[in-house]
Amino acid sequence: MNKLSLPSRRLTRTLALVAGTLISQAALAAPAWITLSADALAVLQRMVPQTQVVGTAQTPVAVPLSARSPALQTRSETVHAVEIDEQWIEMLSLMVHRELARCGGFVHHASQAEALATLHRLSLADAQPSAVGPAPSYAIDNPKEVQALLPLMQGSHLLATVDGLAAFQNRRHTSSHGVAASDWLADKWRALVPVGRKGVRVTQISHSGYPQKSVMLEIVGSTRAHESVVLGGHLDSIASGTVEGARAPGADDNASGIAALTEIIRVMMAGNYVPSRTLRFIGYAAEEVGLRGSSDIAADFLTRSEQVMGVLQLDMTAFQGDSTDIWLYTDYTSALQNTFLAQLVNKYLPIYSVGYSACGYACSDHASWHNRGFRASFPHEASNANYNRTIHTLNDTTATFGNSSAHMLKFAQLGLVYAVELGSLPRGVRGAVALGN
Ligand SMILES: [Zn+2]
Repeated sequence: MNKLSLPSRRLTRTLALVAGTLISQAALAAPAWITLSADALAVLQRMVPQTQVVGTAQTPVAVPLSARSPALQTRSETVHAVEIDEQWIEMLSLMVHRELARCGGFVHHASQAEALATLHRLSLADAQPSAVGPAPSYAIDNPKEVQALLPLMQGSHLLATVDGLAAFQNRRHTSSHGVAASDWLADKWRALVPVGRKGVRVTQISHSGYPQKSVMLEIVGSTRAHESVVLGGHLDSIASGTVEGARAPGADDNASGIAALTEIIRVMMAGNYVPSRTLRFIGYAAEEVGLRGSSDIAADFLTRSEQVMGVLQLDMTAFQGDSTDIWLYTDYTSALQNTFLAQLVNKYLPIYSVGYSACGYACSDHASWHNRGFRASFPHEASNANYNRTIHTLNDTTATFGNSSAHMLKFAQLGLVYAVELGSLPRGVRGAVALGN
């Protein structure tokens, strides 16, 4: 028998993946709308040849000229809107990662109209809707607050959170484990709030179509509570297999991001830190299946009068794929805020090096905010070429990063200095509402 007739091992694995996940998704047959990149569409069309494209847009995207320089060039990317059957969504997520070696690649929308509105906004050179308001000054002028909190950070706490989340069979948005993981995180964040501390609240946000809730902790601002700073990361995980049976520890993707958020909260509570602006820490549900939780939440913030000054996404922080420490992704993010982040590293964390990379359309929840014109940034563990390849499998465990918190700690520290500098106003203007910086 010649070798040619034998289906390749890779094809066999893909077919097994298809079978396993399809069986668990069959019950979900219903129309859905997504926007996705051209390469993700090619993957989808191989899976579902009858896919219907309902719209296409060209969007200007900033990509780095080189990995070590903040200099950018603009290129045009194609984003499509398609109608798809809900049952294919999880498969698409797994296949995009398997075939294109990158995350996400698509956004789930509540309606065709919302998908087309997203294309329209992306096609605009400057997607800045009025709701966001003027950019903050990005002044770095709160060293006292930062230096009081930074030394309190401990790697052991980061690992404890990762171990806690990775212990769930999986954290899928539709599984009982995924629901339990959300409750676990809400309880963990509540337990960090000292008895008697005012102005700190933990809530869980329900979403339609699946049971997993997003978790939010808010620290109400003292003088500018109507302005907020958002730090987030997704709490769900994904791997092939049935809804309840699939093993998806997601230690790096994304227990590591949630661990960094949790450590920032712990240090702020321990240091009795009170920001001027409201700080929101969000564990998003259902990122792996089209950024669903963060899309709902970003859409809701567009309708609020609250001004979001900036959004930071922490998704995969534990695996050091390159010698460079912190990678700022330039596509579908805010160049202004990315510059601010590089300056914060330079000022408070000068031992860390900064690199620049790009990961394509909708590679994490920052895209939900960016697509609505908010200023979002995505500091990442590695360049797009060298990130952790075990994600979306049962091998995404702490072993892939040597059971070490060293890399995660860098992102927890960066998140802390970002939140304090953007959340605090300089001593002189704390009370002055008119200044607007
Ligand atoms: Zn992720």
